Amino acid sequence: MGIVCASGSREHHVVVVGGGFGGLQAVSKLRRAPVEVTLVDRRNFHLFQPLTYQVATGALSPGEIAYPLRAIFKRDRNVRVLLAEVAEFDLDARELQLRSVSGVPAPERLGYDTLIVAGGSHYSYFGHEEWRAHAAEVKSLESALAVRSRLLAAFEAAETEPNAEQRDAWLTFVVVGAGPTGVEMAGQIAELAQDTLRRDFRTIDPRRARILLVEAADRVLTNFPPSLSAKAERALRRLGVTVLAGRTVIGIDAAGVTLDGRDGGAERIASRAVVWAAGVTASSLAGSLAELTGAERDRAGRVTVEADLTLPGHPEVLAIGDMVRVRDPGGEPVLLPGVAPVAMQQGRYAATVVRARLRGREHGAFHYRDKGNLATIGRAAAVADIKGVRLSGFFAWATWLVVHLWYLIGFQNRLLVFIRWSFSFATHGRGARLITGASSAADRRDG
Ligand SMILES: Cc1cc2nc3c(=O)[nH]c(=O)nc-3n(C[C@H](O)[C@H](O)[C@H](O)COP(=O)(O)OP(=O)(O)OC[C@H]3O[C@@H](n4cnc5c(N)ncnc54)[C@H](O)[C@@H]3O)c2cc1C
Repeated sequence: MGIVCASGSREHHVVVVGGGFGGLQAVSKLRRAPVEVTLVDRRNFHLFQPLTYQVATGALSPGEIAYPLRAIFKRDRNVRVLLAEVAEFDLDARELQLRSVSGVPAPERLGYDTLIVAGGSHYSYFGHEEWRAHAAEVKSLESALAVRSRLLAAFEAAETEPNAEQRDAWLTFVVVGAGPTGVEMAGQIAELAQDTLRRDFRTIDPRRARILLVEAADRVLTNFPPSLSAKAERALRRLGVTVLAGRTVIGIDAAGVTLDGRDGGAERIASRAVVWAAGVTASSLAGSLAELTGAERDRAGRVTVEADLTLPGHPEVLAIGDMVRVRDPGGEPVLLPGVAPVAMQQGRYAATVVRARLRGREHGAFHYRDKGNLATIGRAAAVADIKGVRLSGFFAWATWLVVHLWYLIGFQNRLLVFIRWSFSFATHGRGARLITGASSAADRRDG
């Protein structure tokens, strides 16, 4: 199923599905290998998800955290980029079935010798899909922009709302889920209200906004040691965020959120701007692979791969990143954290497997090297747990800045984000406070 080159020779054809953190590393590591690589993604860009929440709060613009896949590999003659969505796998024929996206025609089928699948994950609403319409998340660029519009529109609506109760509802922001993304979102909304917008309005005082962070567990940042969770919670409180730990969301609609009450009843919170940062579910590609190979799936839909990241009975198919759970060399499934370093290390490992096989060599099992955890809360406030070294405050924040700038794709984006962060730090400003996607009567009329 290899690709026939201009010279007539037939190269080993590696298809990588997904240009996220895992897929990008796999392709990068194969760019000088004697293989032809096709990278298939339904987006034409790589998205740096760890900073989407900054787009959602107007601190950064979309173009600063996304980079076109074609531009990343423009100098690599053995790499092709294909804009298409993978619909199904035909593992016996070693082919993918593709669907076109954005009206761009795509081949119906694409053959491979080796397949690396890195389809990622998406937010799950715990079986309540109806909540999605009222509680947007920040996983994709589109949803981050929708959140940005919703947050900024809430302040605008509060400014013109004559009824005090309704005004309070517009100025109540609820973030569901206190993992790193939820903590970062709540911190940023608080800074927006307390700092950036404080002089922008005439009727309301944005500093009166209530920012509630709801978490079902008994503390924020449960993937950090309890001492750092406590520090993060104190930093959030200083910013004006109210943490509601040990509370479960039982309803979300256009007018607000319902929490389970401490007395067994329910508590209603009127809010017009709810942000979802809770559970995740693996890409549906994980389910397809599990069905076709008989591999196990966990409750979050992740497919269980072998210790060398291959699918059972299909050594030519590897799956990596957020959509998998990996067996340890003893055969026990291990759930690694759903973070970029895991996906990146697995992407590099998958490329190493391909290269080793081409040389007829064996390769060991995948082993994750945990470099630590970082979460930022706000201006000069963050927590870090790096190989047992626990940092908080300014040093953790500076580490967070350096790490994120380092891993951001593209020199231009690094420079732009650095300049923007420096400028925002000095001026307390946020340059991208735009309400977009609005549909006014004039918009509709003008088409
Ligand atoms: C808001 C947010 C903040 C985060 N912050 C951090 C952080 O601070 N630090 C950290 O380490 N991790 C963070 N993460 C987690 C990190 O982003 C993920 O662990 C990482 O992206 C996983 O990489 P991946 O390659 O598995 O998937 P992804 O990076 O999600 O990439 C999946 C790719 O597959 C493509 N795709 C999916 N399905 C198809 C299909 N059917 N056909 C074609 N293409 C397809 C998608 O378009 C996408 O490009 C964050 C995640 C989110 C959502």
